[in-house]
Amino acid sequence: MLISNDVIIIKEENGLRYMQFRKLLELGINHLYTLKSEGIDFKTGGPLEEESYQVIAKFLKIPRDKIVIPKQTHTDCVKCVNEKTFQEDLKFTDGLITDKKGLALATKNADCILLNFYDPVKKVIANVHSGWRGTYKKISEKTVVKMINNYGCKPEDIYCFINPSIRVDHFEVDEDVMELCKEIFKFTNRTDDFIKKGRVFEGKQKYNIDTVLINKILLESLGLKPGKIIDCEICSYCNKDEVASARGNGPGYRLAVSAIMM
Ligand SMILES: [Zn+2]
Repeated sequence: MLISNDVIIIKEENGLRYMQFRKLLELGINHLYTLKSEGIDFKTGGPLEEESYQVIAKFLKIPRDKIVIPKQTHTDCVKCVNEKTFQEDLKFTDGLITDKKGLALATKNADCILLNFYDPVKKVIANVHSGWRGTYKKISEKTVVKMINNYGCKPEDIYCFINPSIRVDHFEVDEDVMELCKEIFKFTNRTDDFIKKGRVFEGKQKYNIDTVLINKILLESLGLKPGKIIDCEICSYCNKDEVASARGNGPGYRLAVSAIMM
């Protein structure tokens, strides 16, 4: 059972279970990550989708149409949004940035990494979906670069919050994906830290990749302070009864949402 600790708060309110980061609350930022709750599933086109967003809107105390939802497709496309941005503009988009108050940025997952960013100096937030494909395309790095270039953020001011996702012990890949990872991130000189030789399954050598660590390394090399990269350290697979997990729950798995707003 997930419980509150020094980093996160686990709560239930009106039937909605969710997680929040203590530091983000301290900084005055309204946000949540949804845990499994009756009647909540953000799967696109699913029977519970619209009602689930209504629940989130109510939680955040904003009209439903102030929740900005990109059409995630494992790209490295990060868009800056404002009140005039319509959903049509957000095809093939996996990251959102805004400096507008009252606009909630939402991303969805079931094992992929969702990163929330906040710069309390420039008052800019971002929300990014980074599965292994997004991680390989360095979408987290591209988000920070855009925050710097478009909003004048300084990397040392930026906080990054890492939501529940599948963690290294359960993120198993074949040799092809491992080799790709090794090649892309050779420049970090730390491939041995995030690529682990795993089990042999059906005669094939498997590998485990720490995609969360890759993101942390990318962000730190841009100048984010390690103390400002705050990880909930929750594995979706290990907590599949409470957290949306595609690998853990199999067909019919649900999608969770991370939403953040100023
Ligand atoms: Zn796990």
